[in-house]
Amino acid sequence: MLKRVFSFHTQKLRHWVGDGFFVHGLLRPSKEINSIISPFIMIDYASPKKFLKSDFVRGVGEHPHRGFETVTFAYQGEIQHRDSAGGGGIIRPGDVQWMTAGSGIVHDEYHSKNFSNKGGFFEMVQLWINLPKKYKMISPKYQHIEKETIPNIEISKNINMRLIAGTFFDKSGPAKTFTNMKIIDFYGKFKSNIELSLKEKTNTILLILNGEIKLQGTSYLDKSVILFEQEGRDIKFDTSDNFKAILLNGEPIDEPVISHGPFVMNTFEEIEKALHDYKTGKMGKLL
Ligand code: MN
Repeated sequence: MLKRVFSFHTQKLRHWVGDGFFVHGLLRPSKEINSIISPFIMIDYASPKKFLKSDFVRGVGEHPHRGFETVTFAYQGEIQHRDSAGGGGIIRPGDVQWMTAGSGIVHDEYHSKNFSNKGGFFEMVQLWINLPKKYKMISPKYQHIEKETIPNIEISKNINMRLIAGTFFDKSGPAKTFTNMKIIDFYGKFKSNIELSLKEKTNTILLILNGEIKLQGTSYLDKSVILFEQEGRDIKFDTSDNFKAILLNGEPIDEPVISHGPFVMNTFEEIEKALHDYKTGKMGKLL
């Protein structure tokens, strides 16, 4: 049975995150959609933007996170990050960085020095994934997923997919997750079509980065997200030339979502505690 579209969201305008990331805010938590997007929370898409070469490094300075995971997909340009747990590194084109904020981390996110000095196109996606209550206060950690470790599979004529998390077509993605999910990116240079079969009672989001699709008689353009109903298993659509998208599919976490700035918890009291812990230095500091 085909899955039906629940809703469609797009955002033509971009806003700055710090001075480095000019993003389309494509998905935000809200009462109306929390149960249909869970465990996913937020999507920002920094669509391709050219930066001139500069000695100045752009980005977003020190800030905290608690209670969820941030997943950063670098497509063009490089991101350099540092955190209060002593971690840091560079996310290169094709890499995915999976950060479990857990009980709390303070970090910064900048263009790499090398990218800033050379200039060029910058493109990335940042996705927030919720943690179940029992994992919200675990120790923070990172998975740096290098491009070379992501299985690349040709799924239909002209369409390749990269399996970042979960299992699909008898392959497994490298990301370790706290709840069952699949994260796949798709790309194709020429027109084609995609057919997928997913588990019942899971949530499904299609993020169209480039090109457009035709699904059940309707066209959907780039820089947009389609949320699907939980009923049904199958998704079929036609893709345009230069198509690029990310499919998110996961088992919902049936718990309250209280999101405030960089914290995602289950109650308002836990949000207040997070603010207090950050202000009193309990999430650490950047050295
Ligand atoms: Mn951050």
